[in-house]
Amino acid sequence: MTLDRPTWIDIDLEAIRHNVRTTRRLVGPNVKIFVVCKGDGYGIGAGVLAKTAIEAGADAAACSSPSDASAIRSAGVTAPILLYASTSTVDAAATVSLGVIPTIHDFSSLDAFSELSELNEVYIKIDCGFGRLGFTAPEWSEAFQRLASSSRFKVAGLYCHLGSTEDRAKLELQLEKFHSAAAQAKAAGLHDLVLMIASSRVTIGQIGFNMNAVNPGRMICGILEEPWNRLADIRPVLTSLKSKLIQVKMLAAGSTLAYGEAVIGRDMLIAIAPVGFADGYPRLPAGGVALIRGQRVPILGSRATEHTTFDVTDVDGVAVNDEVVLLGRQGEHVITGNDIADHTGVPLIELLPRIGRLARRVYHG
Ligand SMILES: *Cc1c(COP(=O)(O)O)cnc(C)c1O
Repeated sequence: MTLDRPTWIDIDLEAIRHNVRTTRRLVGPNVKIFVVCKGDGYGIGAGVLAKTAIEAGADAAACSSPSDASAIRSAGVTAPILLYASTSTVDAAATVSLGVIPTIHDFSSLDAFSELSELNEVYIKIDCGFGRLGFTAPEWSEAFQRLASSSRFKVAGLYCHLGSTEDRAKLELQLEKFHSAAAQAKAAGLHDLVLMIASSRVTIGQIGFNMNAVNPGRMICGILEEPWNRLADIRPVLTSLKSKLIQVKMLAAGSTLAYGEAVIGRDMLIAIAPVGFADGYPRLPAGGVALIRGQRVPILGSRATEHTTFDVTDVDGVAVNDEVVLLGRQGEHVITGNDIADHTGVPLIELLPRIGRLARRVYHG
């Protein structure tokens, strides 16, 4: 192994399996689970996430970037991969050659994929009020008819992404629109479609919305904020961010810290670990907490690129090579992703995948 800083994250593959089993219990045996692996599998690794989840009972994968689709295939996954629309129309042929199911989300993508010579299985994406990708309601009838009558397509699914997931009434409106779209698709001759509208929070909160497929991402990756993390039996997958102390020293009262951020008012024992915002832990705001020798210790100042300083004045026996936990458990204490999100103001869904993409991953289980 090549030498690196003693700084890493732990990824618990058994937690992925557990979260898939929880999802399966929620949706029942007959609903297809598409594990969403976008953004390099929310920082877990797209290939590992897809492979582990599918072995644990998910039926298919979904992602947005071609690079993630390639990583999933390279991991040996043979199950279907739905590609959320994200590629340029000029790359339609290359997209299909990845071995994915492309998404037709507007007339320009319909035109681009219809020019390819072979028959391709596709999914249709519609907009039921999210205001992002997808055909809008006035376009449905023409889109469905063109897709149904083209010899280039085998339409296998219809999906949309829901907004306002906290608001039952707004969800019901979007659901009604989806049902109307599904009826129009059927009338146009598109039969036996996979119908899918449920991301994680819809899957957890609105079981009646599951259709015959769901596409959760963050619940399988254990990246749920309050109160959703308490509404289903979901475990964190990225369980810790750890490093080791590389210096411990006394600073005299009156010393300045870092880039003149503070002057300390008392003699202080400080310790430094080679972990910083290059590992995805936010630079600001200053402060926060870490665990050393089973004790909670203050982080001093902001994080530097690859260094963080701790106040270890009250820690007995602290020494170089001691493990420091910035996220995760040590002894009786635990720092959760939600704790860091609360302190930094960086939402959990941005924070954990960022740490996951930037820090060195160690897989367990
Ligand atoms: C990200 C995404 C999902 C999954 O969302 P989660 O909240 O992570 O479950 C589902 N569908 C689409 C289209 C997405 O982009």
